[in-house]
Amino acid sequence: MIIKISNLSEGEHNFVFEDKVDVLDLDKPFYGKYKSSLILNKLHDQLILSVTSDFKVKYECDRCGTEYKTSLMSDYKMIYLMNEAPEETESLNVSYLSRDADKIDISSDVREFALLAVPMKKLCKDECKGLCYKCGKDLNKEKCTCSTEEIDPRWKPLMNLKDKLNLN
Ligand SMILES: [Zn+2]
Ligand SMILES: [Zn+2]
Repeated sequence: MIIKISNLSEGEHNFVFEDKVDVLDLDKPFYGKYKSSLILNKLHDQLILSVTSDFKVKYECDRCGTEYKTSLMSDYKMIYLMNEAPEETESLNVSYLSRDADKIDISSDVREFALLAVPMKKLCKDECKGLCYKCGKDLNKEKCTCSTEEIDPRWKPLMNLKDKLNLN
């Protein structure tokens, strides 16, 4: 993902990149193609870049283990200064370019920010019931008999009553 910056006029420029994630050296959970939309603003010897990338990902649910597909958005801003880099440059969002730089390669930044955007918690759906910790059944698909033991205590009197009625 290379942007040519030689002869770039002042002001706003838009770019779109579309390619396979393999090109960015991204593998699981990423798959297929991604799309990055860029806005590059040139102001004197400063370039301000905003990148929004759309990825496809395949996760395994933390609760039920089912594999599911979803999309992942990642965005970041980078300021390129055509200055000599100061001794200590630890800022994640500032890069330095030499005055005669004619292009910037954003591949590694897009890759890094994509990896940062992967959530810690992955759920196939918010209300995923997960697996029964006793019998291992997927409680989204079926009820198991062990789950009745974990009934909300507020319902217990009602359940007892139901049991009694069944006996008669
Ligand atoms: Zn799940
Ligand atoms: Zn069970």
